[in-house]
Amino acid sequence: MRTVSFPGGEQVCMLGQGTWMMAERPDRRSDEIAALRLGVDLGMTLIDTAEMYGEGAAEELVGEALGDVRDRLFLVSKAYPQNASRARLRVACEASLKRLGTDRLDLYLLHWRGSVPLGETIEAMQALRTAGMIRHWGVSNFDTGDMEELIAAGGDGCAVNQILYNLTRRGPELDLLPWLEGHDIPVMAYSPVEQGRLLADWTLRRIAGAIGATPAQVALAWTLRRGNVIAIPKAGSVAHVRDNYAAIALMLPDDDMAALDAAFSAPRGRRPLEML
Ligand code: NAP
Repeated sequence: MRTVSFPGGEQVCMLGQGTWMMAERPDRRSDEIAALRLGVDLGMTLIDTAEMYGEGAAEELVGEALGDVRDRLFLVSKAYPQNASRARLRVACEASLKRLGTDRLDLYLLHWRGSVPLGETIEAMQALRTAGMIRHWGVSNFDTGDMEELIAAGGDGCAVNQILYNLTRRGPELDLLPWLEGHDIPVMAYSPVEQGRLLADWTLRRIAGAIGATPAQVALAWTLRRGNVIAIPKAGSVAHVRDNYAAIALMLPDDDMAALDAAFSAPRGRRPLEML
């Protein structure tokens, strides 16, 4: 199993499972539960969710699907920026824990930057750690300047930055990814198949066909090529989970990497971090 190391040495499988848009359709619920369970059985034990997803419904689905295997999981949830204050973060975290049916999160993220001063959020995160409610904390949708401000505000305990990163969103390669590598902070790449839109791309389909893979596997293998990136595709069926799992073992040949580079070129100039 290929893994990514967190600061402190803890290792997690570099392919996790997203949950945005789960629990929104009753007719898909049993498929989503089966998909998450299969993924965990295969070793994709990092589960990414958020209080925002379905206003708590995705967290409840995760709790229902995986409550009995909680100890095998690396459970990640996220707080709204408006809840990232000293007064509100604990309340938000308690509500997430209740919906998830657990007594601790492995990682708790600030979903995106809001108006609460970073120093206050860092303090609130550290208090949750001290209370044993979370094991690690981190951020999401933070650009390079935000990361610098975070560190300056005392945030050197930040364990991860979760960002939009895939073949069509290569902006972070210019400065954010090198900055995070330089600070030993792993990256979580969200929407790694661009919410499905990437999979119809002609180059991706041609490469996949030539090596007997699927477009999703090629897109994921590309995202995983740097050793410090965890990709968290959301798959709502066991077929998609199996498909994605095989990307862990897929090492793209140099000529396919070059073809992908030509079709999805890296940006020449800096651009602000995009988010979905
Ligand atoms: P994504 O994972 O890029 O794409 C999900 C879509 O791709 C779904 O429609 C899924 O269909 C389809 N799909 C997955 N595997 C497939 C396969 N092998 N073949 C064909 N289609 C496949 O997009 P995402 O859900 O936006 O991102 C992933 C996770 O990142 C989210 O679920 C969430 O946990 C996290 N996220 C975080 C942020 C943030 O601000 N921090 C923002 C966005 C997302 P099915 O459902 O039918 O399988």
